[in-house]
This record gives sequence, C-alpha cells and structure tokens, in this order.
Amino acid sequence: MTPQFDNSYARLPEKFYTRMQAEPVSAPKLLKLNSDLGTQIGLDTDWLQSEDGVAMLAGNKLPNGADPLAQVYAGHQFGGWSPRLGDGRALLLGEVAAPDGSHWDIQLKGSGPTPYSRAGDGRAWLGPVIREYLVSEAMAALNVPTTRALAVVTTGDTVLREDRYPGAILTRVASSHVRVGTFQYFASQQDTEALSSLLSFCIKRHYAHLKSDDALGFLSVVVDAQAKLVSKWMGLGFIHGVMNTDNCHVGGLTIDYGPCAFMDAYHPSKVFSSIDQFGRYAYGAQPEILVWNLAQLASSLLPLIGENMNAAVEQAQDALHAFGPLYTEAWKQVFFAKLGLTEGGEAEITLVQDLLTTMSDNQADFTRTFRRLLDGTARDEFVDRTAFDAWSENWQARQPDITLMSQANPAFIPRNHQIEAAIQNALKDDFELFERLSDVLSSPFSEQPDHEDLQAAPLDQERVAQTFCGT
Ligand code: AMP
Ligand code: MG
Repeated sequence: MTPQFDNSYARLPEKFYTRMQAEPVSAPKLLKLNSDLGTQIGLDTDWLQSEDGVAMLAGNKLPNGADPLAQVYAGHQFGGWSPRLGDGRALLLGEVAAPDGSHWDIQLKGSGPTPYSRAGDGRAWLGPVIREYLVSEAMAALNVPTTRALAVVTTGDTVLREDRYPGAILTRVASSHVRVGTFQYFASQQDTEALSSLLSFCIKRHYAHLKSDDALGFLSVVVDAQAKLVSKWMGLGFIHGVMNTDNCHVGGLTIDYGPCAFMDAYHPSKVFSSIDQFGRYAYGAQPEILVWNLAQLASSLLPLIGENMNAAVEQAQDALHAFGPLYTEAWKQVFFAKLGLTEGGEAEITLVQDLLTTMSDNQADFTRTFRRLLDGTARDEFVDRTAFDAWSENWQARQPDITLMSQANPAFIPRNHQIEAAIQNALKDDFELFERLSDVLSSPFSEQPDHEDLQAAPLDQERVAQTFCGT
C-alpha cells in the first residue's frame, strides 16, 4: 500500500522553508529498513522495500501528498552566532499519521544541496549514516527520547570527503524537526508573527495540553523535557558532541548525531569531537551548556511571553531557574536507579559521586562498571580494588534492588570502536557487524551471551580518540 503523506509545516508561511525537490541519485539500493519503526508509524514495510518505496527513500520519487521542503533555522555554533543555517543536506518530505493518531515527520538526510548548504554538497556518505542509524536506534532502545532512523539507502554515487566514499541517505523520523535555532531565526528578525505561528505549531505537535499561545508554559515544558533528556545522557555516559542551539530540539529529543560518542573509561572532562577544541561540550559540561541553550530559547520567546518587557524577562528567568532543581531530581532518578536505590537523599548523592570519583581515578569503564555491579564483578574494573571495596560495602548496606539496576544499566552500548569497525567493514561491502550491532542494541538491557565481544571495552589499539562531524 502506498503511503499517504501530508505536510503541515508546509502550511506555515513560506519564510519558514524553501520548497524544493531532492536531487535524484543514480542507483538507489536499500541497505537497511527498520521494519518495527515503519509499522509503528503506520507505513507498509513491504511497500517500503518495493522499487517505489526505495525510490522514495532515495528522494527519486515522491509519495502521495508529500510537499518536500528544506527548513530554515539559525543557531549558535560553539557560542558564535550564525543568522542563517537551515537544512543544508536534508529535506522534509512531509508527515505520516500513525495508527495511534500521532504525526511523524519523514526527512531524508543526504538528499542533495539546498539554499542552506553554504559550502557543503548536501550529501552524506555511508559512514555517518551508519553511525546515526546505530546510535539513534540504540538510544531509542535505551529509553532516551530521540529522532529515529527508518532506513538507509546507498545512492550509487560517490561523495568526496578526505577520500571518495559511497553516498548514502538516512531516513530520519521525528515528532518534529524544530530546534531552539528555529525560534532564534525569527526572533533575530523581530518577526513576532512568525514566532507566534511557530509556537502554536510546536505546542500542537509536542505539548498539546498547553494553550496554543502559552509561550511561558512552552518554555517551562521544554526546560523540563531537556533537563530529563540530559540526565539520561549523563546516566549512559553519552556525549552529544555538538550541542549548538540548532541541534537542540524543542520537543526534548536527542537530534543530530554527528561526533557523538559513548564514553569507555569514565572521566567528566571527556571530549571526542575533533572540532570541540576547548571542551565546550565535554561530558560534564552538558547540563550547564544546555542551560545556556535554553536561555537562547527564553530570550527568543520574550516578545510572546508578555508586552511588559521587564515582567517577561522575570518570568522567563524563573522558568530557566527551574532547570537546576528539575535536573537534580532527574539526575537522582537516573543514578539512584543505576545503584538500585528506590529513594535517597544527600548521603546517597554522595554515594553516587564517590563511585564516579573512584571510577575516574581508576579510568574504570563507565558502562561495564555499572553493569557489573549486578553480578558483583565490578571490582575487576578498578586498579585500586580496595578503594572500590570500601565504597561497595557502604553501597551494599543499602540493599540495592537488582531488578531496578538491570533496567538502568545496559549490558550493551554502541561503542565507538565497534561502530568504526562496522563502518570500515561496510566500506568493503561486509554488513554483518552493522546488522549484528543493530540487532544486539535493540535489546541493550538483556544479557546476550553470544555477543559478549560487543560488551568489551576497546583495547588500546582499538580506542577511538576522536570523532568527526561527518559532513
Ligand atoms: P550539524 O552541526 O552537523 O547539524 O550541521 C550544521 C549545519 O551545516 C546545518 O545547517 C547542516 O544542514 C549543514 N551541513 C552539514 N553538512 C552538510 C553538507 N554535507 N552539505 C550541506 N550542508 C551541510
Ligand atoms: Mg544540525
């Protein structure tokens, strides 16, 4: 059955986007289809694998009702203001309605140049597409709000980066693709009417319980959603890597998997991204930088919060100040569960912090340490075992709930060196590791004895020290 698309973003004023077609690719081939996700959002997965389906996923053929466009937005990149960014290598085809009535944007990433491409070619190569597929789907299985990956097609065309690579397109699925930077774009032009249309679009999509013009309520729920999101990242040792305001989603989703990475050995100042020279987006800096991003959203919303500027500023500040307590609560929930504690106070916060400090002193592997608390073998992750034993005695005295812990501490995460290996193999037309990772990571909390090798921390020569944007 051919899908029926709509595009409600296209009904917003024309200054929100550039309407355009994808640039056709020469020989599209379906490399991966996420059938579970397809079914969940109401698409016929047999059709998606048909010639017409693959042509749609490659941008060569439009589905009924689609109205493809590149969205415009602005953003602060590493703190510097870019007045116009936008989809430089992506097109929003439109949206589909799922059986439960929810709406899902279908976006092709790597679909060719747009007016927002600047110096870029609008394309993606297979490496970053595989990385985004694996990591975003792993995040979903780890119960982290995220954009999803529906499919990977190879294009048959070559993409030029430091070398020549096979081109690919990722089909990204999300409840919307609106970023803090989208609000900033219109705020910087003092276009209050556009801001107000954008606000009501976002409220309808993400926070339908709010009144469509409740800017302050919107700010508060975004602050809350983002506080919960970043606490989940922290609990998994996830480093987004490029928390620019254009990569900060107003629905509280993880978006734009560029140089992201899961830490192996724990250290709060860990950075992977090759372009993050000063550690602006280091693991431990993420909550603070998020507040900075949310302050940009608050400032963009001011004209909608109230006519009296001083009063609006005060209200926006109050909403932002809520981040601290919301984050602390969310962090406690995440880390207490990791230690099997159903509740706790200051003493338990210290208990978590003491473990993290000992882990950092010992370069203990983040994921393995927490997982191995379950079967009592975590001490093997420490060089100074007596330091761990002292901590453990204190922790055991609280009679941790092992079931709670088994749902909070994954056995499997997408490790950098495995993703890298999957990409290198894929470049040699060997997709076995990609498939295996995709499969194993769909149940990250289950023990999977046949795949123990994927739990291992990297050997010294396997360790990935840096990740790249993949643009
Ligand atoms: P990112 O931080 O990776 O999300 O990208 C920042 C901006 O650069 C966005 O506006 C992207 O659309 C744009 N961009 C990234 N890669 C490319 C590319 N290969 N061609 C055109 N634009 C790109
Ligand atoms: Mg981006």
